[in-house]
Amino acid sequence: MANIKGMSSTYAWLTQHKQLLVQQLHNKRLPHALLIHGEAGAGKGTLANWLATRLACLNSNSDNLANDLSAHINHQASNKAVIESCGFCKHCKLIASQSFPDLLTIDEGDKAISVDAIRAVTRFLETRPQIATQKVVVIKQVELLTVAAANALLKTLEEPTLGNILVLTTNNTESLLPTILSRCQLVSLRPLLAEQFGQEGALQPYANTTYLPELQQIEQQQAYEAFAAATIGFLTLDTPYQVFEQALLGNDRALIWLERIISTLMRVSHQWQAPHSPQINWQAASKVNRNTLMRIFQVILSANKRSLDYQQSNQEQLVQQLALTIKEIVSEKERVNG
Ligand SMILES: [Zn+2]
Repeated sequence: MANIKGMSSTYAWLTQHKQLLVQQLHNKRLPHALLIHGEAGAGKGTLANWLATRLACLNSNSDNLANDLSAHINHQASNKAVIESCGFCKHCKLIASQSFPDLLTIDEGDKAISVDAIRAVTRFLETRPQIATQKVVVIKQVELLTVAAANALLKTLEEPTLGNILVLTTNNTESLLPTILSRCQLVSLRPLLAEQFGQEGALQPYANTTYLPELQQIEQQQAYEAFAAATIGFLTLDTPYQVFEQALLGNDRALIWLERIISTLMRVSHQWQAPHSPQINWQAASKVNRNTLMRIFQVILSANKRSLDYQQSNQEQLVQQLALTIKEIVSEKERVNG
């Protein structure tokens, strides 16, 4: 299997986000809490680490100018708005060796993030920075916060300590408390498949990380899972067309959900890590031809566009037509990647 991290080492799509954040930093408008979200492999951790380093770097910030004027000028010379940290100042080196005293990173891998970890964050933020101008906390995969931890974090977000910055990452905004979401500036990473995988995905279906607020509700979440199961079952020919059609017709979110499900299947078929949802068999994507997925995705996108112009009464017709078109695509040959 391909090494995803290795494949996406350039993360070209992060540049625009870096530019925007640097601009906010220069205008002293960087919010105290950011939530970077995107699918696995989208570069969330990379952007979080970049920001933590960029904030600390002695040679990239005018605030730190007095510390090392000549190095700053050298670093600035080639590029007026410095995007990257210098990599050689004391702070950059301490961060690289993971011993920078004013940066705390919480990264529990796939394990739950406990309330103790968040208490450590609170304690860390209570004291003044030791060598930097502010403290930075990076918490990776906040969808793994326990309920108690999420509530503790919410308190920290509600009572920001001056100048400190929290950078959160997640691949699943649906599972977060809306109150946490609303207190963070959202940074949505939507890498183009084509950027990451070359010409194979050149038709620009990107990672769909649209926030679906309805999935906060358990009934809706279950309905989404059943909908996904019906869709995936039909694509792999394990479920009859009628089941798929019924799932579509009975649901006013069908077009949006379908776009999300197909784009996820496409990423999984390109060896991106599947989203964390044990109820949905994303791995079935490997049974469906990528070109088939791509074509289905395109007809869904165009149906989604058309649906904006349609009266409510015509929506049902549009969805039915879409279901039939997908059926035609699926019944054509080349079902298995080869
Ligand atoms: Zn530096």
